[in-house]
Amino acid sequence: MREEQRMTTERVGTEQRLVAQYAVSRTLAESDSLDAATPQILDAIGLGLGWDYAALWLVDEQRDVLVCGDTWHALVVEFPEFESISQRISFATGVGLPGRVWASGEPVWIADIARDANFARLRVAASEGLHTAMAFPILFGRRFLGVFEFLGREIREPDPDILDMLVSLGSQIGQFARRTRAEAAVRESEARKAAILESALDAIVTMNHEGRVIEWNPAAQRIFGYTSDEVVDREMAELILPPALRQAHRRGLKHYVSTGEGPIIGKRLELTAMRSDGFEFPVELTVTRIPVDGPPTFTGYIRDITERKLALEQLKRSEASLAEAQRIAHLGSWEWDLLTDEVRWSDETYRIYGITPCGFAPTADIFWQLVHPQDLADVRQAVRSTLEENQPYDIEHRIVRPDGTERVVHRQGEVIREAAGKPVRMVGTVLDVTERSRALEQAERALELRNHFLSMASHELKTPVTLLKGYAQLLRNQADRTGDAMLRKPVGVIERQVGRIHRLVDELLDVSHVEGGRIKSEMLPFDLSAAVLEVVDELQATAPGVELQVHERAGGLRVLGDRARIQQVVTNLLINAVKYSGNSKQVDIVLSQHGDRAQFSVTDYGIGIPEEQQGRVFELYFRGSNAPGGNYGGLGLGLYIGNAIVEQHGGEIGMVSEEGKGSTFHVSLPLADTNPSDRELQS
Ligand code: ADP
Repeated sequence: MREEQRMTTERVGTEQRLVAQYAVSRTLAESDSLDAATPQILDAIGLGLGWDYAALWLVDEQRDVLVCGDTWHALVVEFPEFESISQRISFATGVGLPGRVWASGEPVWIADIARDANFARLRVAASEGLHTAMAFPILFGRRFLGVFEFLGREIREPDPDILDMLVSLGSQIGQFARRTRAEAAVRESEARKAAILESALDAIVTMNHEGRVIEWNPAAQRIFGYTSDEVVDREMAELILPPALRQAHRRGLKHYVSTGEGPIIGKRLELTAMRSDGFEFPVELTVTRIPVDGPPTFTGYIRDITERKLALEQLKRSEASLAEAQRIAHLGSWEWDLLTDEVRWSDETYRIYGITPCGFAPTADIFWQLVHPQDLADVRQAVRSTLEENQPYDIEHRIVRPDGTERVVHRQGEVIREAAGKPVRMVGTVLDVTERSRALEQAERALELRNHFLSMASHELKTPVTLLKGYAQLLRNQADRTGDAMLRKPVGVIERQVGRIHRLVDELLDVSHVEGGRIKSEMLPFDLSAAVLEVVDELQATAPGVELQVHERAGGLRVLGDRARIQQVVTNLLINAVKYSGNSKQVDIVLSQHGDRAQFSVTDYGIGIPEEQQGRVFELYFRGSNAPGGNYGGLGLGLYIGNAIVEQHGGEIGMVSEEGKGSTFHVSLPLADTNPSDRELQS
């Protein structure tokens, strides 16, 4: 039985070999890839040379092993287990039959695999009755591409003719595989190129050495308005260049073709192109030379940059108008990169600091050097607290320009932080406030001068007025004693007018004190009701025509303050009530207590104050548009002084008025603490 199995088949005849070889050659001639040819190669050799099983092994480049590709078996037999294990197994170089062929690059013939030490699938092969194996490499020169493997059930001794034939077939198939792979690669790259050309957003135009169009992609059609059919073989310059540029283009091309030199290749250029309808527009162009033998061919990549240009122009315009606005407003902007210490200044900022821009971003030193030495500490502190405490950056300080002039700037800014909170930049504005601050200084000086003048003048006036008052008193006494009726009248006039001047001088002096913050009051507890009633009685005596009526005489309204000053306020309110009472001859005075406050109010039924002017009643020099002049005239000082006095007492003054119907002025003052020491003071 064993002997039978080991029966050697007859050697294959020459004719059989030639038929097989021919079949393989024809297959290779008709196929366009190894994949497609393999089934027929396996069939031609397997069948033609009398094998039962065949397989192709190919290199898995990534794993560096051989794996099984196609398999074949003779019609009447099957080797399911062997086929299945072959599909699962892989061979490194030198291992198993395929690995051995890979390692040696030579065909291998094993007459009896059972006696072979290096046949990995022996057990399965034997169980399915396979005994002989041969394999040959597919080679392209020295490059190894794969292995064809054949097995048979009969034991066959190596046949040198077949082995020779396999060597030649291996290299024939190798060449075929290389060629078809290269062709496939070319086809693939062509397809890729076509896809790129198709989908590119830029116009891609290829032209030959004569400047004629060879290729024209869809984007070129879209941008220039010609279809590919319309342009191929026509001169490119004529199609897409404005007439003015064509000659230069032709000259340049000619020069390049004859010398191989030209300034355009490989550079990015901006120029004007023309559409099929003659419309001209800006494009960006890059030209490359295609590396082929023979006369040069060029590909141009052309991008329509109309929108980019427009956007750029718009940006330039808005930058220009921003710069203009900054110049007009004397407001510059700045940015300080805290990581690199670089600063970026707008033109106006440079102008404010009196520096010419240097074309690159200077460091913050440039700024610190310009800060006035005396303001340096303040500025540093402002920056520090902005960075550390997240305070808004807002500071006014002096700078000294490089030419030595001093300016005052107002800088504002804020800190930009990254997500983790670390400050990275400061951005802000700088305003030249030199003029404004000079004007402010001047105004302050003028105010000071005025107050100084007021106080000097009123002091100077006070002495003669007091003197005049004394002499008027003397004359009055004399007139009373002698009963001189002739003298009484002029003396009365002198007294009234001197009284008026006296009050005015006092008021002017008070104004100068209020303005200078020097109004003096002596704070002692006193009875407000008594003080008010005293003034009422005194005035009633001098204004007999008017009836001053006191209501709700809430007694014991003790307040802490300067009695004379509060009486001055009451006097002014009462005089006003009388002065502006028009035809009505009644004035009501109310004394009351509201919680911890004492209040008194003075109501008249006279001319009132126009509604739109009521907000300004306590301003200095305010006079209502309906206030009469002449004897009733005033300077608008009384309420201003009154307001200052009441405020100084921690009180409030206010009014309600209706034009033509009358006004109520009210003053409220905090009640004094009724502690024993107050009481002692009062007694
Ligand atoms: P003067 O009375 O000397 O002008 P005041 O400061 O006392 O100055 O008053 C300012 C202005 O307020 C007055 O000129 C007048 O127009 C208006 N005014 C004050 N009190 C009254 C009042 N009781 N009725 C109407 N107008 C008044």
